[in-house]
Amino acid sequence: MRSKVIEKIKKSFLDAFFPKFCFGCKKEGRYLCSSCTLFLSEAAFICPDCGKVEYFGKSHKSCRKRRHLDGLVSLWDYEGLIKKLIREGKYRSLIDVYEELVEYGFYTVKKNRGRFSLFLSFLFEEDTVITFVPLYKKKERRRGFNQAEEIAKNIGRVTKKDVFSLLKKEKETLSQTRLTKEERRENVKAVFSCNYIKKKIPKNIVLVDDVWTSGATMRECCRVLKENGAKKVWGFTIAKTA
Ligand SMILES: [Zn+2]
Ligand SMILES: [Zn+2]
Repeated sequence: MRSKVIEKIKKSFLDAFFPKFCFGCKKEGRYLCSSCTLFLSEAAFICPDCGKVEYFGKSHKSCRKRRHLDGLVSLWDYEGLIKKLIREGKYRSLIDVYEELVEYGFYTVKKNRGRFSLFLSFLFEEDTVITFVPLYKKKERRRGFNQAEEIAKNIGRVTKKDVFSLLKKEKETLSQTRLTKEERRENVKAVFSCNYIKKKIPKNIVLVDDVWTSGATMRECCRVLKENGAKKVWGFTIAKTA
């Protein structure tokens, strides 16, 4: 109880001295104001294996291979305001950005229950847990937080699901942004390991990251989770490159 009071005092203190401004229209109060949410473009779902549009985000039966993702959902296209929020959130350590994105994100999920239905029924299965793509420890210390973990924790908070740290990144890799698809795959090969007792790993997992680009990182994380005993893994990202 006391810590909640302290949190509130801290929050109002921070709000008074470091007011938030909307990244779209500069209005004071939030990083993403309600008028600017109207400009966000909702992402179409794809099969995480072949990249073709799939209404529910489930991987096609014909594409699915062992240890691959079972499905993928992303909230918005990685462009404009969303791109700005994700980038600035990361580089300026604006942790509240993720709180706002997830809260607004789940509000849109509720509005779009149809296409999110398979994802939601998987997420709300009793034994489904949430985990996230890890950062290399040194990098996380430098940044002060892991954005994927912040997103996962906020999803856990709004859905009342448990968040587990199941993966570890063993070494630093090159930034994926300038690499080709093939190079991206090579870059993340064998850099993740499981943080958890083998075979006791939860069977159903939602794997969270900020952006889906080529999917190489999430595919590799999924492979490690399944090699360690996970049965079904769905990916969830805030944004997806179009
Ligand atoms: Zn605005
Ligand atoms: Zn496919």
